Amino acid sequence: MQNIILHIDMNSYFASVEQQANPHLRGKPVGVCAYLSPNGCIIASSMEAKKLGIKTAFRVKDAKKICPEIILIENEPAKYRTVTTKIFSILADYTDRVEPYSIDEAFLDLTGYTKKISNAVCVAKEIQQRIKVEVGEWLKCKIGISTTRWLAKFIADIAKADAIDVITPKTAPKVYERCKLTDAWGINYRMQWRLNQLGIYTLNDLKNYPVANILAVLGKPGYFLWANVNGIEIQGVRTQEEILPKSIGHSYCLPKHNTDTNYHLSILMKLCEKTGRRLRESKLEAKNLSIFWSYVHGGGVYKIFKVPGTLFTTMDIYNQAYNVFLNKKMSAFKIRMIAVSVTNLSPLTKQLNLFDDVLGRKKIAQAMDNINDKFGEYTISYGQMHGLADQARDRVGFRKTVGVKPKLTKELLYL
Ligand SMILES: [Mg+2]
Repeated sequence: MQNIILHIDMNSYFASVEQQANPHLRGKPVGVCAYLSPNGCIIASSMEAKKLGIKTAFRVKDAKKICPEIILIENEPAKYRTVTTKIFSILADYTDRVEPYSIDEAFLDLTGYTKKISNAVCVAKEIQQRIKVEVGEWLKCKIGISTTRWLAKFIADIAKADAIDVITPKTAPKVYERCKLTDAWGINYRMQWRLNQLGIYTLNDLKNYPVANILAVLGKPGYFLWANVNGIEIQGVRTQEEILPKSIGHSYCLPKHNTDTNYHLSILMKLCEKTGRRLRESKLEAKNLSIFWSYVHGGGVYKIFKVPGTLFTTMDIYNQAYNVFLNKKMSAFKIRMIAVSVTNLSPLTKQLNLFDDVLGRKKIAQAMDNINDKFGEYTISYGQMHGLADQARDRVGFRKTVGVKPKLTKELLYL
C-alpha cells in the first residue's frame, strides 16, 4: 500500500483572516504587522499587497513607500488561532493522523483512509470547499498531495494560490526541471552553495548524485535531502502527541525599568500564567523550571532546577519562580527582562496522589482555562496580574501551532 500525504497551506493567512473578518478590507492591499511603528515589519501581506511586491518582512515605512494607501493592521494572535482551530477541526474529519506544522500549515496522513491519489484529490477539493463554507469564503488554501511528507510540502510550496497539485516520485524529475535548488524545502542559499561545490546545480543533479558521496561530504542533512528528492520517506506525518515540545516558556522585555518588586512579581505571574496555559493546553506536565532575568546595567541571573513533584498549574510554576526571584534578586538593580520556562516535559499523568490537593488545584486551573477560552484571555486571572492585560502581550509566531482534537465521525465517501 502506498502512503498518501496531503500538505495544506493557507494563503496570505493573517491578512486573509482580517479580510474575512472585515469585508471592507477585501480586494485591498492589507499588511498585518508585528507593530505599526515605521520600523515594525509586515508579517503577512494580502494577495493584493503581494501583487504590488509587498512581501513578508517588509518594514512598515518601505511598504508605505510602494503603496501609500496600504491598510496596516496590528496582528491579533487570538483571532488567527480561533480560525486555525476551526480549520484543523475540519482536517481531523479525514484522518486521525494530522500534524499541525504551523499556525497555517498542516500535514494529513491519508494512508489507509484513501486508496488512490485520485481519491485524495477529491478529499483535497472537499477540504478547500468546506473551509470556504464553514470557516470563511475569503480563506483560500493550496494543497500538495504525494506519497511522502516532503514531496507533499514541496509541491504545495511551489503551487499557485488555491491550487491542488500532485507529485509522485515518478513525476518528480519533470517537476524538478522547472525548479531552482532553493525552491526545495530545506535548501537555503548556504546549502545551495555547498551543493554547488559538489557539482550539484539542479534538483535532478541532487536526485542522481551518488548517495555515499553526499553522505560523506554533507553528513546526515545531505542524506536527508537526497532521500527527500528521491521520494524516500524520512520522517512521516507525526501527530501532536508524537511531537512533544522540549520546553514551553515566555519572556518579556519590561517597558518600565525600575526596582519595584511588586511590578516585577506581577510580570512574573503573567509569564507563569502564559506558560501554564500552554502547558495545560498541550496536556503536559514539567519537572524542571528555568528562570532568567537581566539587569539594565548588564548581567543577570539564570537558574534551572528540578522541582519536587511536577509543574502543571500556574501557581505551581509561580511559587517556584517566586522563591528564586526573591532570593536572588538584587533589590537596588533595575530589571530589563524576565523569562520563565518549563522543561523535562511529559504527558500528563493520570495517577494523582490522593493525599495531596493536586487534583483540586488541577481542576481549578482547568476551570480557569475553560473560562478564558470561552470569554477571552484574562477574563479570570490571579489578583497579582491585575491591570496587566496590556503587558507581556500575546505574540504570534509562524512555527506556533494550534492543537488538533482527534476525531473520526464523518464517513469517508472516497474509499
Ligand atoms: Mg501560508
